[in-house]
Amino acid sequence: MNQIGSVTELTQILEDLRKYVEYQRALGLEYLVPRTKKVDVKNAAIKEDEMRTKQPVKTTIDASPQLNIFDSASKKQTLEEIKEEIGDCTRCKLNEGRTNIVFGEGNPKARLVFVGEGPGRDEDIQGQPFVGRAGQLLTKIITAMGLKRSDVYICNVVKCRPPGNRTPEQDEIATCRQFLFKQLRAINPAVVVCLGSVAAQSVLNTKAKLGELRGNFHTYGHARLMVTYHPAALLRNPGFKKPLWEDMQLVMKELGISKSGD
Ligand code: SF4
Repeated sequence: MNQIGSVTELTQILEDLRKYVEYQRALGLEYLVPRTKKVDVKNAAIKEDEMRTKQPVKTTIDASPQLNIFDSASKKQTLEEIKEEIGDCTRCKLNEGRTNIVFGEGNPKARLVFVGEGPGRDEDIQGQPFVGRAGQLLTKIITAMGLKRSDVYICNVVKCRPPGNRTPEQDEIATCRQFLFKQLRAINPAVVVCLGSVAAQSVLNTKAKLGELRGNFHTYGHARLMVTYHPAALLRNPGFKKPLWEDMQLVMKELGISKSGD
């Protein structure tokens, strides 16, 4: 590699490191603890080989912060433990108007997780994710993929309904998404699908628009991450149906699901 190439690469590494530290700070981390656990070199090498054969089609943004969340030296919690940790949460102002915390539901060992923005009115009342009109459409999409709702896991970035279904604010996302990250770590899916730009931007820690993010896989720790339209957007604009289905076909291929669906 020539000198210019090395400097560019070094600049990129430093920029990635800066983003990573800022991101950890946003999650409330005040200092970094060095890993003390002994590394199992043999198994690590096998895992690395497995990872190498499953490289993403295209990664448009740096997802290194998420890698750290997956590999964190802190204890991996079960979904029940995460629920318990959330408790009767008042960590952000969204607690003031909620009826129920909508934690998420589905297969705790799902290979596929759908992540939305936040609960709406029906979800707030029932305490379950995606049960309103958009939720019914998501169920249809899951069925068209040859799966059942109980096969997958469904959750949101924020667990309490924003007033009047407004978009969650940055401080609310920054406070609540730690629980989503813990859920994803507990489930350890092969594929994560972010529904809509808020979910995608919150998980990938980017300001990139949905149009720039969808259509290709990104990385999220050991998982592949697909960004697509929120089902509510399909209700407003049926023209999104085709590109969404194209995204889901990539997901099905990644999961080895052969049903053609449409
Ligand atoms: S949105 Fe999340 S952080 Fe905010 S009160 Fe609800 S559970 Fe707590």
